[in-house]
Amino acid sequence: MCSIKGLTGLEFAGGIPGTVGGAAYMNAGANGQETADVVDSVEIVTTEGQCQTLHRVDLSFGYRSSPFQDMQDLAAIAAVTFRLRHSESARRKQLEYLERRRSSQPVGEKSAGSVFRNPSNLGVSAGELIDRAGLKGVRVGGAMVSNIHANFFVNSGESTSRDMLQLISLVKEMVYQKFGVQLKEEVLYVYPHCNYLNPNRDK
Ligand SMILES: Cc1cc2nc3c(=O)[nH]c(=O)nc-3n(C[C@H](O)[C@H](O)[C@H](O)COP(=O)(O)OP(=O)(O)OC[C@H]3O[C@@H](n4cnc5c(N)ncnc54)[C@H](O)[C@@H]3O)c2cc1C
Repeated sequence: MCSIKGLTGLEFAGGIPGTVGGAAYMNAGANGQETADVVDSVEIVTTEGQCQTLHRVDLSFGYRSSPFQDMQDLAAIAAVTFRLRHSESARRKQLEYLERRRSSQPVGEKSAGSVFRNPSNLGVSAGELIDRAGLKGVRVGGAMVSNIHANFFVNSGESTSRDMLQLISLVKEMVYQKFGVQLKEEVLYVYPHCNYLNPNRDK
């Protein structure tokens, strides 16, 4: 909607499923843009029931990380104010991003998006490492490394969460054996599986 209105900064969000609160919490991004670039302020509710407005200058974001992930007393992000600029090319840029997504990702298949974060300072993406390890198409039960984009693991229809967790473990192990790179998850685990496999996320 923003890019249709000629506003730039959130073009990347087209095609990413989620809410405004989830985008701020995860610092969602793609194509060189991220949520943090355009956040002006965030309204939160604490577990004590207090409303607070936090300003961008006081919020320190990183690659797929936000200060909200470390806030012990956060109940919910209630609203986000974005600061966007006018641009004639916003919609064209967004359509290019959407087309790139359609041609390079398993759009329409069941996935959680990118499984692993891109390793920092290696100049190679998690997907390229998995691909170069020859793991496209590898399966555990109904869970499979996508043949279209190796950092997307798809549910072919009958995958259990255990299949998916085992596939994630297997891919981590194979990439480590082949390249000595320890992949770290971008996805977050939900109880009870956080006891089964340590997410081991970077901050
Ligand atoms: C097909 C596909 C493609 C994707 N592509 C991308 C991509 O290109 N780039 C990218 O960054 N991500 C991508 N993702 C991941 C995901 O869509 C984003 O991380 C999105 O921002 C998550 O938003 P959500 O509202 O669904 O949050 P959820 O996934 O429901 O939650 C994520 C975390 O945010 C917290 N949270 C959510 N809402 C709030 C709130 N209001 N207040 C406090 N905490 C909250 C949750 O507790 C949880 O810890 C993709 C996912 C899929 C399935």
